[in-house]
Amino acid sequence: MNTNKPRVTPASPSTTVAYDERHFANAVVPPIFQNSLFTFESFADMEETYAGKKVRPVYSRGLNPTVRAFEEKIAKLEKTDDALGFASGMAAISSSVLSVVKPGDRIVAVEHLYPDAYRFFEMMLKDLNVSVDYVDGRDTDAVAKAMPGAKLLYLESPTSWTFQVHDIAKLCDIARQHGAVSMIDNSWASPIFQQPATLGCDVVIHSASKYLGGHSDVVAGVVAGSSEFIGRLRGQILPYLGSKLSAFDAWLLLRGLRTLPARMREHQRSGLFIAQKLAEHPEVEAVLHPTLGRNLPDGLTGASGLFSLQFSSRVKIPLFCDALSIFKIGVSWGGHESLVVPALVSRAQVGGPNSALRFGVPENLVRLHVGLEDAEDLWSDLSAAIDAALQ
Ligand SMILES: *Cc1c(COP(=O)(O)O)cnc(C)c1O
Repeated sequence: MNTNKPRVTPASPSTTVAYDERHFANAVVPPIFQNSLFTFESFADMEETYAGKKVRPVYSRGLNPTVRAFEEKIAKLEKTDDALGFASGMAAISSSVLSVVKPGDRIVAVEHLYPDAYRFFEMMLKDLNVSVDYVDGRDTDAVAKAMPGAKLLYLESPTSWTFQVHDIAKLCDIARQHGAVSMIDNSWASPIFQQPATLGCDVVIHSASKYLGGHSDVVAGVVAGSSEFIGRLRGQILPYLGSKLSAFDAWLLLRGLRTLPARMREHQRSGLFIAQKLAEHPEVEAVLHPTLGRNLPDGLTGASGLFSLQFSSRVKIPLFCDALSIFKIGVSWGGHESLVVPALVSRAQVGGPNSALRFGVPENLVRLHVGLEDAEDLWSDLSAAIDAALQ
């Protein structure tokens, strides 16, 4: 913020996450601007700011420099004009969708989208008289057939639970032909392995609680897109819905981002190792991993550590979960720790429309997050738990 040296424009993700402009007092890490308001130098300073003649932080619900540093990095990583932070991934999703649709509109969404996005669509959007049609995203013809008249195409690839991979470029092209906005939840791949804007997607959303943060210590979200889209979200939606990312959470995210490329390489390596071992195991019926044993689909350049498997009927899933010691039973993913979630429990979940039932997530399915522990240790844990769960 105070250098006369020529500016470089970091090109690769590893440099983007590691590099910062000089900060106050040359601190090597950006400070946390833990303040609600910023005072004005003078009457003229305030007047010019209100008249839109200059942009400067006024109040942290709007612009906060720590949050801004995070947003700028995400825009660079996703190769978009701009990005906007949110208090959660769901705030990023609901705010983005609400910025596009109005009562009477229709959305086309892929099946197996994130369960709480499904609940938001089925409960709040329905109440606002916005309808949603769900289509198998692998079937581009079916998506094309559903599109006429739709305002928004809502994508997630790979999908939640089943990890279906879709042809993002083709689907976004179809949306464009129908004058619809395309939006994707890119949390699984992170910008390290997939940059949907380069495939023609208009709006890219993340739950930053997952890989971007990477340490299971923050709930946050972010949206990346054109200056026009993000400008509208920043000016007309976020200030009033108010789901602002806090400065401290943005600082945690900046810290997490530093190691994102290195962490993703490790999640990929260990995830593939475990997925391969499971695929060879006699008690495993199927491994639902987006890249194992397949060519990488267009635009997806790697795999994270989250995937599912289906057990044979001989494996008792409650016993398997209880027999694990390194893997813990828990929701979410993207942190350092390995986790397991059985679909059985999600199928029985109460409290709103149930996407696991609606889209038929099988009872014998278990989702794994392969964390950053030693891959051989993780495999020993899993194989011992399978043995303990055989009946
Ligand atoms: C967790 C998650 C979300 C929601 O993010 P929060 O930060 O928990 O609000 C959205 N999409 C996907 C794919 C997720 O896994």
